[in-house]
Amino acid sequence: MTLTASLVDCPADGLVCRNCGARYPLSPVHACAECFGPLEVGYAAAALASVTRAQIEGGPPNVWRYAGLLPVGQDPASRVSLNPGWTPMVRADRLAEALGMRSLWVKDDSANPTHSFKDRVVSMAATAARGFGYDRLACASTGNLANSVAAHAARAGMSSVVFIPADLEPGKIVQSAIYGGTLVAVDGSYDDVNRLTSELAETDEFEGTAFVNQNVRPFYAEGSKTVGYETAEQLGWRLPEQIVVPVASGSLLTKIDKAFREFVAAGLVDPSEWRVFGAQSAGCAPIAVAFEAGHDVVQPVRPTGIAKSLNIGNPADGPYALDAVRRTGGSIAAVGDDEIREGIRLLARTEGIFGETAGGVTVAVLRRLLASGALDPGAETVIYNTGDGLKTLDAVAGLVGPSVTIAPTLKAVRAAGLMD
Ligand SMILES: *Cc1c(COP(=O)(O)O)cnc(C)c1O
Ligand SMILES: [Zn+2]
Repeated sequence: MTLTASLVDCPADGLVCRNCGARYPLSPVHACAECFGPLEVGYAAAALASVTRAQIEGGPPNVWRYAGLLPVGQDPASRVSLNPGWTPMVRADRLAEALGMRSLWVKDDSANPTHSFKDRVVSMAATAARGFGYDRLACASTGNLANSVAAHAARAGMSSVVFIPADLEPGKIVQSAIYGGTLVAVDGSYDDVNRLTSELAETDEFEGTAFVNQNVRPFYAEGSKTVGYETAEQLGWRLPEQIVVPVASGSLLTKIDKAFREFVAAGLVDPSEWRVFGAQSAGCAPIAVAFEAGHDVVQPVRPTGIAKSLNIGNPADGPYALDAVRRTGGSIAAVGDDEIREGIRLLARTEGIFGETAGGVTVAVLRRLLASGALDPGAETVIYNTGDGLKTLDAVAGLVGPSVTIAPTLKAVRAAGLMD
């Protein structure tokens, strides 16, 4: 396979099986031919070690400042991207006070071009897809990925076909459709949709199609590392002591942990200890349940509940998320829909950040972990708000609204008690 500019001078030197360690050349495959284990991008140690703080700081204010640590070519013109990233790191003093914490930050990844962190992973997958000569992007999605794939395809002038469960939030359906690609609503859960697209990817008709979270998944997944890199750089080139990450497939959680390890290995931050905590909703908590039971294997579930962006019942990175959490001394907890709604409202009230349901899950799990003593209120903590509340308005629409509705007269204002 010949690679186009999108993969020329790429610091990655191959794909590595996370299960048995077998190595493969950079190519659009995601499963090991020896053992069917998942493949991950590998880098030449020298390439990683050559990246400096000054080089990164001199780069653009988006994910591409870390191009020397990502599986892409070094020519910016070759990239398929909405240039996401470098999102705000918000010092959350009022939320910290409400929860009795000493030092808390919210990494607000709703501030991306399609309003979720998925733009980071799609920029890597779409760039790799172009590098391998694909002309169509596709995915199975719980919503945010669909939004981002359709938008990236539109920006690049590629075609797209996006598969979603038919019962997604109206906002996410409209946002997926508006960019003009093909949107396929499937009567079934995300796991049903994912099974369908895995079968499609094997057919001749879809040979020219890159499924961003399937055949180019190793490239896709590396995009999540940029969340971890930014966390460290925005803290002033150091690592936090605790992080709380929302979990669907488990990929984001494992990649933030990988980003911290790479920064230490590359000498970009001083070595320090960090603990990784995962956040799931009770309606879909297969990894939290495995953690609690002490199992290494994640038993699939049929998802329910309002946190639809996290509703993956058979999480591909489950065992690796469990490993990251156990290795660092963290844990994974799950919260119910009412706690999720209250988490959304607490973040909005205290910090002026309106997160989607996944953000509510994360805030509610933070609270739960503090109450159980699993998380140290005195240790510096970063939580991740991964999507925008405007995408999931229905979750809280019935709980908040106008304080009062009045006629447009002073008399009415006075009668409503607003001038007392
Ligand atoms: C996809 C998604 C996640 C987590 O995804 P992983 O599959 O665990 O990487 C978290 N939050 C939101 C809003 C998402 O859309
Ligand atoms: Zn293998």
